Amino acid sequence: MRFQCWCLTDKGLKRSGNQDSFLIDERIGIFVVADGVGGHMGGEVASALAVETVREVLGHPKALQFSPREVLMQAYQEASHRIFDRAAQESKLNGMGTTMVMGYLRDSRLYIANVGDSRCYLYRKPYVWQLTEDHSLINEQIRLGFLTEEKAKATIGKNVITRSVGFERDVYPDIIEREVSPGDIFLMCSDGLTGMITDQEMCQIFNDNSADKTTPVFIQQALAHGGDDNVTVLVLNFSET
Ligand code: CA
Repeated sequence: MRFQCWCLTDKGLKRSGNQDSFLIDERIGIFVVADGVGGHMGGEVASALAVETVREVLGHPKALQFSPREVLMQAYQEASHRIFDRAAQESKLNGMGTTMVMGYLRDSRLYIANVGDSRCYLYRKPYVWQLTEDHSLINEQIRLGFLTEEKAKATIGKNVITRSVGFERDVYPDIIEREVSPGDIFLMCSDGLTGMITDQEMCQIFNDNSADKTTPVFIQQALAHGGDDNVTVLVLNFSET
């Protein structure tokens, strides 16, 4: 099976910098989106450190001696340690952290790991499914039944995340495993996309465009709806040949 991948990021219309980072390494088979949190340069530093660490850990020759789950756990732990320790050394970086969602392709299976509220979706014509679960205050309240999704949209503080890489020294990602089939399209994004467009709009964009054309359309839609936040969109398409 063959895959192709595209990614675009944009700082949006309201933020002065871009704290999102992404990484595609086709040789190792990793596809990563991270959304940094923290004042000054903290967010940028945290998300950049996270994606660099993932490349180092998963790209290490010994990585293949471990199961995909084990090596993903190691990558998240190592990233969290580095961010936490760096923040402890530099007072202006105190409290920084990052979300991180990623796909790791090994033996025709995609292992999807997640911490925070960046997301991974699967599009199989004509539907999309959200594969990851947000680690956010709002999602925890929805799951506990305190809030409906409709009410959640109007709630203040909806982007408070309850699990992040580097805010505490240890972190444990959710990991899901999927066999991939030709025609599957995976989308990974920061909340600058999902805060601006609905799942229905996302699905419509996939229905109306070939995979290679979708990333600029997603960015344009996020900006057209206000561009409140940095937005990063990564699209990974599997095909027969
Ligand atoms: Ca964000």
